[in-house]
Amino acid sequence: MNLPISRRDFLDGMAIALGASMLPAGCRPDEPEVPFAPERDPRYYPPALTGLRGNHPGSFDVAHQLRDGTLRKTLGRPHDTGERYDLVVVGAGISGLSAAHFYRKVHGEAAQVLVLDNHDDIGGHAKRNEFTAGDRTLIGYGGTESIESPAQYSAVAKGVLADLGIEVRRFYTAFDRHRYARLGLGPGIFFDRETFGTDRLVRGDADAVSRTLLQRAPLSAVARRDILKVFQDRQDHFPGLTSDEKKTRLARLSYRDYLLTILHLAPDAIPFFQSRTHDLYGVGIDAVPAFDCWGLGYPGFAGLHLAPGSGPGIGLTPLLEMNEAEPYIFHFPDGNASIARLLVRRLLPQALPGRTMEDVVTARLDYATLDAGAAPTRIRLNSTVVRVRHVGDPGSAREVEITYVRGGRAATVRAGACVLAGWHVMIPYLCPELPERQRTALSYAVKVPLVYTNVALRDWKAIAKAGVAEVVAPSSYYYRVSLDFPVDLGDYRSSRTPAEPAVLKLFRTPCHPGLPARDQHRAGRTELLTTPFATFEHHLRDQLTRMFGAGGFDPATDITAITVNRWAHGYAYEYNSLWDGPWEDDQRPCVVARQPFGRITIANSDAGAFAYTNSAIDQAWRAVQELPA
Ligand SMILES: Cc1cc2nc3c(=O)[nH]c(=O)nc-3n(C[C@H](O)[C@H](O)[C@H](O)COP(=O)(O)OP(=O)(O)OC[C@H]3O[C@@H](n4cnc5c(N)ncnc54)[C@H](O)[C@@H]3O)c2cc1C
Repeated sequence: MNLPISRRDFLDGMAIALGASMLPAGCRPDEPEVPFAPERDPRYYPPALTGLRGNHPGSFDVAHQLRDGTLRKTLGRPHDTGERYDLVVVGAGISGLSAAHFYRKVHGEAAQVLVLDNHDDIGGHAKRNEFTAGDRTLIGYGGTESIESPAQYSAVAKGVLADLGIEVRRFYTAFDRHRYARLGLGPGIFFDRETFGTDRLVRGDADAVSRTLLQRAPLSAVARRDILKVFQDRQDHFPGLTSDEKKTRLARLSYRDYLLTILHLAPDAIPFFQSRTHDLYGVGIDAVPAFDCWGLGYPGFAGLHLAPGSGPGIGLTPLLEMNEAEPYIFHFPDGNASIARLLVRRLLPQALPGRTMEDVVTARLDYATLDAGAAPTRIRLNSTVVRVRHVGDPGSAREVEITYVRGGRAATVRAGACVLAGWHVMIPYLCPELPERQRTALSYAVKVPLVYTNVALRDWKAIAKAGVAEVVAPSSYYYRVSLDFPVDLGDYRSSRTPAEPAVLKLFRTPCHPGLPARDQHRAGRTELLTTPFATFEHHLRDQLTRMFGAGGFDPATDITAITVNRWAHGYAYEYNSLWDGPWEDDQRPCVVARQPFGRITIANSDAGAFAYTNSAIDQAWRAVQELPA
């Protein structure tokens, strides 16, 4: 733990070097004016950057200055690039890239399209991380993980997968579902001393606890009894109510309150369940409706005999409606970054060599070609859009002017139309002339903050010795730790044996139990943006040592690199029956928010209030359909 971390010194050095090269042209008086174009540097390769990634340093400063009203002071008069496009898309996430793809399908491949994004890489949440381990490259996902329930995708979203050459059945052989079990590894639970009195890693499944498992856990006799009671409960706690009435009750009750006040659990038992909902909701059971937890199959509801599906006036989150019997295997080694990369390949074939869903896995994206040459489509990274306005009256204007800041300078381009595929909370700042009701609805979409940390390991012998492949840690800094998915695709071979290098995943949601969900997200975002890399690193070294130290884990020698994907603006906000609505379908904030405005239309997964890739695609399709002819 005390070893000086040469790795971090190296990272800080990298950040400084990159930062200097990113200074705006002409900022240093002794140097001649050179155009700002870091992407042209042959060393520019964001997937291999380590340290703080996701919403990386430098990606949000301009946006926050715009929010705070301080941007104008630092910028001069925008420079008119003279560039004219048919379409400008704001945001190079899956929604923005899909919008560009759909537009070209409708208007032909010669259509002039510019995609702008404030990050240094394409994909938005669909982020690729790479590590070098000897002569081998390890690939990980920094955000969007998998294609969830593809059979339930809309025809439009399925069509995009088909356009990109993605055959989901390929994952049935690419994803080795039994690799860890063959090695004798299973799930585990880590009890930390701060909450449970002692550090203990227990083999066993937190989703199917047994008396023997609980006996090995550092829990009081009362907590053991009550945790087991939840799993074995068969009582109808709402006798005399219909299934719909019971659902309505559950929709207004958090799972925590259900456990405490309906199942009468002792408070001692609650920490065991608290973070179960972090993965999907980014908050604990205090802020997730019991109704959703029933839909997810959590324990404690068997005796209620609820009919399947939603209830009157309460929608199950679309995920639960979607969640059919498909296995969770539709995963590229870099997650859905492969979808973003395949979209780029369609838009700019010269940028990413190859033709298939397999060769894309190891193909190297040539960032220098994204915004170069005579290609009709361009992707301009490191560019924060700060203003989108019609040139003239929105009802009759022929053009939209888009102002963005790149390398410290403001510049403008014009376009026949614009799709806003970035985060909804930012749109009122870009288009202050939108109707007030629409701006309020756009601001409703408070995104969920999350951290996906990838740790490159020299080997994973100590983890294998503990007999686990995935550990839930109900009260620790990282609530879940997991070996990477065992997926081999194209030329990529994932780590097969504990002696090989591998990527370990650590997940954190910076929530603040006790507050309403959106306030938890706001507080979590502030926390994330003020937490330095060293803190994330300290916690992971400490936690991994406490979990796997008995098997010989030594952070000083076992960890070879760390990438912390900080998503201050993560999942799209999904409505929560504890605080939101009920609304008529067409009065939901996301519907009010996504109304077209002259030549400007609005996409992003926020527009569906659904944090999934198919929502990003579906909303892009709608936004392109809504563009004026
Ligand atoms: C950690 C994480 C894990 C996830 N896992 C899954 C999963 O397993 N499966 C799944 O289906 N979905 C998952 N999701 C949901 C994910 O959000 C969607 O899948 C999808 O990738 C969202 O795409 P998007 O284009 O709507 O938004 P984003 O990916 O956020 O893209 C929007 C882009 O616009 C940029 N932007 C915003 N404002 C501006 C501006 N003013 N100027 C320039 N650029 C701007 C943003 O910086 C961003 O790059 C996950 C999300 C996160 C955060």
